Amino acid sequence: MESRHPTLSVVVPLYNEEGNVAPLCERLEGILMRLPGAPSYEIIIVNDGSADATADRVRDQLRTRKNIVLVNLSRNFGHQLAATAGLDTAKGDAVILMDGDLQDPPELIAEFFDRWQAGYDVVYAVRRTRKGESLFKTATARMFYRIVRKMTKVNIPVDTGDFRLMSRRVVTALHRSPERHRFLRGMVSWVGYRQIGVEYDRDERHTGVTKYPLAKMLRFAIDGITSFSDAPLRLASYLGFCSSFVAFIYAIVVIVSKLFSIHPPAYTPGWASTIVAVIFLGGVQLIGIGILGEYLGRIYDEVKGRPLYLISDIERSQ
Ligand code: UDP
Ligand code: MG
Repeated sequence: MESRHPTLSVVVPLYNEEGNVAPLCERLEGILMRLPGAPSYEIIIVNDGSADATADRVRDQLRTRKNIVLVNLSRNFGHQLAATAGLDTAKGDAVILMDGDLQDPPELIAEFFDRWQAGYDVVYAVRRTRKGESLFKTATARMFYRIVRKMTKVNIPVDTGDFRLMSRRVVTALHRSPERHRFLRGMVSWVGYRQIGVEYDRDERHTGVTKYPLAKMLRFAIDGITSFSDAPLRLASYLGFCSSFVAFIYAIVVIVSKLFSIHPPAYTPGWASTIVAVIFLGGVQLIGIGILGEYLGRIYDEVKGRPLYLISDIERSQ
């Protein structure tokens, strides 16, 4: 290894990306070596328990290129935790986080670097367009970013993934935040300091398939909302208030009509209204319990206090 404290660290979590390792390293090295002032750098590749030959492909790169670090996790921990493992390992004065499928063009790093030198602590990439992604994914993602933004007090920029540069003090702040359902893009916004976005067109995946199927995307979305907002909990109480209000009015109507024997014309002893009330209230209660459960489950996970990830070993270029 060349220096103990490089200027730039690039962190890339990989899960079953054997076909992307070589082109990724090549493009990254190309851009990093051509940065103005030739800053020292390290490329930290986190192998998130891949079941394919990802680790071997990275080892090929370790042999032929300098400044590459391979962090093997003990199993698959998921994208956000793999990224966290990489951020914790990175030693650079500035750290860049990016996906390993070349959807985040490494060429944008030059612009990140420029803004960082101009004094920004966070430079995040905003997706102007997204190539090669289904209409469904694009539409749900757009909606998600806007909903999260509405629900939280933290100023989380829309259409922004994890592709970004962070200064040392931001990385330290993340390191000091031990939460485990990590929504990194939100946490970085929460940190504050000087932040700026740069727009880019998101490319297609180089090879392989997305590691975020619908179920995982949904989990991630719920993590994002619950980590940064208690609006769903309030929604549950609003629903409760509304339905009790309706029930209260209805109770008065029932009592008054019973006392004075007023029945509406064509009055039929109403199972319909009973059923509607029971179903409606049952539904509202279940929604409320479900929302509570989402938060409770996360509290349970947090109090267990297990480590966020486990590293099995670290290999470096000679
Ligand atoms: N990833 C990971 N662990 C996982 C899932 C994904 O390290 O459990 C990595 C993946 O290899 C890629 C990045 O996270 O480098 C983003 O994943 P992907 O490209 O599949 O997400 P998408 O771009 O489809 O949202
Ligand atoms: Mg991708």
